[in-house]
Amino acid sequence: MILLIVRLFTNKHYRGITIYPFVILTQKEDGRNAVLLNHEKIHIRQQLELLVIPFFIWYGLEFLIRFLMYRNWSKAYRNISFERESYANEEDLDYLQQRSFWKWIKYL
Ligand SMILES: [Zn+2]
Repeated sequence: MILLIVRLFTNKHYRGITIYPFVILTQKEDGRNAVLLNHEKIHIRQQLELLVIPFFIWYGLEFLIRFLMYRNWSKAYRNISFERESYANEEDLDYLQQRSFWKWIKYL
């Protein structure tokens, strides 16, 4: 994982973006935020399991489906299976050590 701090945008809704192998944060202090970093590391693992590009295709399609379901941008985002898994487990800093392969499927 390569950590980058970018101040191009300061939208508080987007504190971190992960595009394997990079975790891009908008706020420097978040570089020490273990829970946020764990959230992004879970995305790194999901991306590796799906060989990166298919992850983003799936992520985009699932967002569209969720958006049609909820008609709400942030609710759609929070309910993408990859986000459900990451939010559900971000506070468990040992999560990735015992996580099984393709675990995100359980969050569909
Ligand atoms: Zn996320």
